[in-house]
Amino acid sequence: MIQTRTILYVEDNPDNTMLVKRALESRGYKLLDSPTGINGVAIAETEDVGLILLDINLPDIDGYEVARRLRASKKTRLAHTPIIAITANALKGDAEKALEAGCDVYMSKPINIRELWARVEAFLPAPS
Ligand code: MN
Repeated sequence: MIQTRTILYVEDNPDNTMLVKRALESRGYKLLDSPTGINGVAIAETEDVGLILLDINLPDIDGYEVARRLRASKKTRLAHTPIIAITANALKGDAEKALEAGCDVYMSKPINIRELWARVEAFLPAPS
Protein backbone atom coordinates (compact mmCIF):
# COMPACT_ATOMS: atom_id res chain seq x y z
CA MET A 1 0.00 0.00 0.00
CA ILE A 2 1.26 3.46 -0.90
CA GLN A 3 1.47 5.66 2.16
CA THR A 4 -0.20 9.04 1.76
CA ARG A 5 2.14 12.01 1.36
CA THR A 6 -0.49 14.45 2.53
CA ILE A 7 0.27 16.51 5.64
CA LEU A 8 -2.21 18.67 7.54
CA TYR A 9 -0.93 21.84 9.22
CA VAL A 10 -3.25 23.41 11.80
CA GLU A 11 -1.90 26.96 12.24
CA ASP A 12 -3.47 30.42 12.47
CA ASN A 13 -0.41 32.41 11.38
CA PRO A 14 -0.39 32.61 7.56
CA ASP A 15 3.34 33.38 7.45
CA ASN A 16 4.11 30.09 9.18
CA THR A 17 1.65 28.25 6.97
CA MET A 18 3.33 29.62 3.82
CA LEU A 19 6.82 28.83 5.11
CA VAL A 20 5.93 25.24 5.97
CA LYS A 21 3.92 24.77 2.77
CA ARG A 22 6.90 25.81 0.63
CA ALA A 23 9.34 23.72 2.65
CA LEU A 24 7.29 20.55 2.48
CA GLU A 25 6.08 20.92 -1.11
CA SER A 26 9.72 21.29 -2.17
CA ARG A 27 10.21 17.78 -0.77
CA GLY A 28 7.23 16.39 -2.66
CA TYR A 29 4.63 16.39 0.11
CA LYS A 30 1.14 17.81 -0.30
CA LEU A 31 0.02 20.25 2.39
CA LEU A 32 -3.51 20.87 3.63
CA ASP A 33 -3.97 23.63 6.16
CA SER A 34 -6.50 24.96 8.62
CA PRO A 35 -6.37 28.23 10.59
CA THR A 36 -8.63 26.86 13.33
CA GLY A 37 -8.67 23.77 15.51
CA ILE A 38 -12.23 22.62 14.92
CA ASN A 39 -11.88 22.80 11.14
CA GLY A 40 -8.53 21.04 11.45
CA VAL A 41 -10.14 18.10 13.21
CA ALA A 42 -12.81 18.00 10.48
CA ILE A 43 -10.18 17.90 7.72
CA ALA A 44 -8.26 15.14 9.52
CA GLU A 45 -11.46 13.12 9.74
CA THR A 46 -12.40 13.51 6.08
CA GLU A 47 -9.09 13.61 4.16
CA ASP A 48 -6.40 10.98 3.79
CA VAL A 49 -3.80 12.62 6.02
CA GLY A 50 -0.53 10.87 6.87
CA LEU A 51 0.80 13.32 9.45
CA ILE A 52 -0.44 16.36 11.36
CA LEU A 53 1.54 19.47 12.29
CA LEU A 54 -0.18 21.26 15.13
CA ASP A 55 0.15 24.79 16.48
CA ILE A 56 -0.90 25.11 20.12
CA ASN A 57 -2.17 28.71 20.28
CA LEU A 58 -5.22 28.72 18.01
CA PRO A 59 -8.22 31.09 17.90
CA ASP A 60 -10.84 28.51 18.91
CA ILE A 61 -9.86 25.32 20.71
CA ASP A 62 -6.14 25.04 21.54
CA GLY A 63 -3.77 22.49 20.08
CA TYR A 64 -3.93 20.30 23.17
CA GLU A 65 -7.69 19.97 22.69
CA VAL A 66 -7.20 19.31 18.97
CA ALA A 67 -4.81 16.47 19.81
CA ARG A 68 -7.23 15.01 22.37
CA ARG A 69 -10.12 15.14 19.87
CA LEU A 70 -8.03 13.49 17.17
CA ARG A 71 -6.94 10.69 19.50
CA ALA A 72 -10.54 10.14 20.63
CA SER A 73 -12.06 10.42 17.13
CA LYS A 74 -14.48 7.79 15.92
CA LYS A 75 -12.20 7.70 12.85
CA THR A 76 -9.96 5.24 14.66
CA ARG A 77 -7.00 5.66 12.25
CA LEU A 78 -6.50 9.05 13.95
CA ALA A 79 -5.48 7.27 17.13
CA HIS A 80 -2.20 6.50 15.34
CA THR A 81 -1.63 9.35 12.87
CA PRO A 82 1.62 11.08 13.88
CA ILE A 83 1.14 14.52 15.42
CA ILE A 84 4.01 17.01 15.68
CA ALA A 85 3.24 19.96 17.97
CA ILE A 86 4.82 23.25 16.87
CA THR A 87 4.46 26.15 19.26
CA ALA A 88 5.97 29.39 20.48
CA ASN A 89 5.06 28.48 24.06
CA ALA A 90 8.30 28.44 25.96
CA LEU A 91 6.80 27.80 29.34
CA LYS A 92 8.16 24.83 31.17
CA GLY A 93 5.73 21.96 30.96
CA ASP A 94 4.31 22.75 27.52
CA ALA A 95 6.20 19.89 25.91
CA GLU A 96 4.85 17.51 28.52
CA LYS A 97 1.32 18.88 28.03
CA ALA A 98 1.57 18.33 24.27
CA LEU A 99 2.76 14.76 24.77
CA GLU A 100 0.06 14.08 27.37
CA ALA A 101 -2.58 15.37 24.93
CA GLY A 102 -1.45 12.79 22.39
CA CYS A 103 1.23 14.51 20.31
CA ASP A 104 4.22 12.34 19.37
CA VAL A 105 6.86 15.05 19.17
CA TYR A 106 7.25 18.69 20.19
CA MET A 107 9.04 21.39 18.17
CA SER A 108 9.45 25.00 19.24
CA LYS A 109 9.19 28.13 17.10
CA PRO A 110 10.79 29.78 15.25
CA ILE A 111 10.47 26.90 12.79
CA ASN A 112 13.81 25.49 11.67
CA ILE A 113 13.28 24.01 8.20
CA ARG A 114 15.98 21.35 8.53
CA GLU A 115 14.53 20.23 11.85
CA LEU A 116 11.06 20.20 10.30
CA TRP A 117 12.21 18.01 7.39
CA ALA A 118 13.95 15.63 9.76
CA ARG A 119 10.96 15.38 12.10
CA VAL A 120 8.50 14.85 9.25
CA GLU A 121 10.68 12.30 7.44
CA ALA A 122 11.06 10.29 10.64
CA PHE A 123 7.34 9.49 10.35
CA LEU A 124 6.62 9.94 6.65
CA PRO A 125 9.48 9.26 4.23
CA ALA A 126 9.86 11.89 1.51
CA PRO A 127 8.56 10.89 -1.91
CA SER A 128 11.39 9.70 -4.14
MN1 MN B 1 -0.99 30.25 16.70
